[in-house]
Amino acid sequence: TLDAPALEVEGVSAGYGPTAVLREVSFTVPAGSVVALLGPNGAGKTTVLRAVSGLLPVRSGTIRIAGREVTRERAHRRFARGLCHVPEGRGVFRGLTVRENLVLQAAAGQEDDALERAVAAFPILGRRLGQQAGTLSGGQQQMLAMAAAHVRSPGLVLVDEASLGLAPIIVDEIFEFLRQRADDGAALLIVDQFARRALALASTAYVLRRGRIVHGGPAADLLNSDLFGSYLGGP
Ligand code: ATP
Repeated sequence: TLDAPALEVEGVSAGYGPTAVLREVSFTVPAGSVVALLGPNGAGKTTVLRAVSGLLPVRSGTIRIAGREVTRERAHRRFARGLCHVPEGRGVFRGLTVRENLVLQAAAGQEDDALERAVAAFPILGRRLGQQAGTLSGGQQQMLAMAAAHVRSPGLVLVDEASLGLAPIIVDEIFEFLRQRADDGAALLIVDQFARRALALASTAYVLRRGRIVHGGPAADLLNSDLFGSYLGGP
């Protein structure tokens, strides 16, 4: 339904083999809003994103996308429902050209439009359309990953460590792009080591610690709280 949250995670537990990582994790991403998921290294943030996108099966709990339960659905079905996951390390097809990476995400007949929008957002990509993605700089690869993720105007985008290893000026550009996509109505779930930037973009923030949500509330409140200073400061 239209008013349903973009994402609801309820009591989700998950892990790898015998190792429990997530313990009864619950949070919501309202439609069209930006939520930051923060926490120290190893807390389980990436694992949450993998569970949401269907890359990792959950042991218990429920996941709903736009009001529809997807807990047992495969990743490609969730993708078809408008979910897009930009993994840590970018997830571009390194052996394909920039143009091919973008066109691959477009619906039939929408290829030119996809290229146009990507180049409008990141003009540098326009000068590299024929270049193999694997030969781009890290920042350019991240721009390509972001542009490719948004070709289909997804309803929910999971962004894992978009700023990792990038120069601040590139990070600014990527966060500005994400802000515009949020203004267009995409819901975003953002995991980022730059807690301050993620909180500046987000309306709501959750803090994960040892696989449990230990805080949830307005992003602005978290910026001013003790939790922020104690381990979320980041660069
Ligand atoms: P980081 O910011 O360091 O990536 P994170 O909060 O994203 O941290 P996760 O990557 O979700 O944390 O990892 C959570 C826990 O799960 C860690 O203890 C990690 O060692 C473990 N883990 C992650 N991936 C695997 C895997 N494929 N097999 C086994 N254990 C894993």
